[in-house]
Amino acid sequence: MGGKRDLLSKPVPQSSKDITLDDGKAYTAVTEGLATVLFPKITVKKDKAGNDVEVKGEVFYNPIQQFNRDLSVLTIKTFGDMFLEEKKEKKEQKLANKAKGKETKGKETKDGGPAKKTITAPTYTPTPPKFTILDALSATGLRALRYALEIPAATAITANDLEPSAVASITANIVHNSKNPATHPDTLEPSAAMSKISYEVIDLDPFGTASPFIDAAVQAVSDGGLLAVTCTDAGVWASAGYSEKCFSLYGGTPVKGEWCHEAGVRLILNSIAMAAARYGYWMEPLLSLSIDFYARVFVRIRKGPEMVKRLASNSMVVYNCDSGCGSWVVQKLGRSKEEKNKSGTGTFMKFGLARAPTTDSNCAECGFPMHLGGPMYAGPLHSTAFIKRLLVSLPSAPPSIYGTLPRITGMLQTALQESTPALAASPFFFATTRLAKTLHCIAPPLAAFRGALKGLGYEVSRSHCKPTSIKTNAPWNVIWEVMRRWVEKKPVKIEAFGDKHAAYKILRLGRVEGDEGTEEEKKLKELEVVFDEKLGADEDKASGLVRYQVNPTAHWGPMAKAKKEDMSKRVMEDGEGEEVEGKRVRRSEANA
Ligand SMILES: [Zn+2]
Repeated sequence: MGGKRDLLSKPVPQSSKDITLDDGKAYTAVTEGLATVLFPKITVKKDKAGNDVEVKGEVFYNPIQQFNRDLSVLTIKTFGDMFLEEKKEKKEQKLANKAKGKETKGKETKDGGPAKKTITAPTYTPTPPKFTILDALSATGLRALRYALEIPAATAITANDLEPSAVASITANIVHNSKNPATHPDTLEPSAAMSKISYEVIDLDPFGTASPFIDAAVQAVSDGGLLAVTCTDAGVWASAGYSEKCFSLYGGTPVKGEWCHEAGVRLILNSIAMAAARYGYWMEPLLSLSIDFYARVFVRIRKGPEMVKRLASNSMVVYNCDSGCGSWVVQKLGRSKEEKNKSGTGTFMKFGLARAPTTDSNCAECGFPMHLGGPMYAGPLHSTAFIKRLLVSLPSAPPSIYGTLPRITGMLQTALQESTPALAASPFFFATTRLAKTLHCIAPPLAAFRGALKGLGYEVSRSHCKPTSIKTNAPWNVIWEVMRRWVEKKPVKIEAFGDKHAAYKILRLGRVEGDEGTEEEKKLKELEVVFDEKLGADEDKASGLVRYQVNPTAHWGPMAKAKKEDMSKRVMEDGEGEEVEGKRVRRSEANA
């Protein structure tokens, strides 16, 4: 990574200063975006004997999470504009239809003659429609305050936290940011906060998993509203170490491999879609991202029995050759097909059982055993229309407020690329280094490999999850054929491969002379594979776009969690951890 990219991808340090309020108490005031949150310099705690003792206050602010908050503000802002436009159009349409109905009625009563009185549509005087946001696990209230101050469409924001000390802090911060009276605190267990009224946007940003709050959230979000969900327990949904826990929390098992983070995001999405379907709602992902050490998804929840029916055919399991060559095969859990209706004037969806299984228990490419992952969401991770609209809005966002704009832009561009229609049915990605490891060869240059696949007519993109990733609609037998051609150019020591090695079958070793292989193998041999670096060149490499985070500090990663007893802590158990800077660390992070 070049120096410029490195610099741009660093989180902008928060502005922090010491202040003394009218009550004489000293605080550290941290400003992010348009909001300022206060952390007392001195707090009172009980000692072992139960006496009050004054201790130095801690600043529970993680600058790394500014990216999440900047992204959330801008995403909800764009969603708000879209949501209110839709509401307005719907209302105008309703009024127009009403007027039309009256007019027709008038004409009918005149025995087909022209109506003497023309009824025009009542003039529509727009009143600001309801657009409320619930920050269900608010901690310091920073996120809720930023929503209040930076999203003009928001009519009311609730900053909820079960912990009384957090609510005291939220209240103080609301008073300090007194410009917006629409923010109010609440001290409820998150699910209880969601059982009172409906919200247009519900943000779940817990420490750890959001799983215990999903069911209440899909019920409390209004029809067509937005759910923004963070899960920081990547050690559960993106590693095979706690697969049983992952199944309990998300209803599916994780996978092993470079693409485990995308699979994890799909597990989280599936758990939301399943919860929503029980109440007759379906989920439309607008943006589903794996970021640093957490997942963040923005999904719309809408009423719609026809779409709810597609849940099974939009869910899949995956057979993963994790101990062999790293390839995978997916299987949808249901079948759906669009068919013409009897009159031939329209179509309808026909649903049925999926054929099983889609592959053998051993990998077709290398012969190693396959492992099962999922069920997980099989549909598109993002809405291209939404990302395009969000990208259009970014140039008007002031960089002085949104310090992480370069990275947001880069990540959205990558998300847009991985959402092309040609790749819609091709989940996951691989790294050429992983392919090379299997064959004990040097990895082909990324551009050369991309060029080879493009030359064969396949779509190639990258994943937002990993810098060296290749996302393609090329099938695995073609991918391995390309690698065989690469090995022809860069020979490997085949003597090293016994018949127990994954490369043995892939490189077709041990064949008797004259054996030309199966019909499929013959067809693959006819492919014209050209490692065309120019064709596979990264078009926007020179643009300096920041696509991936470069670890900005020596000890970069999640912060220590604020010590308090809340729901999000209760669901955390020993043994959970995650990969940070290649090391396995215990998951701990402040949700400030
Ligand atoms: Zn394999």
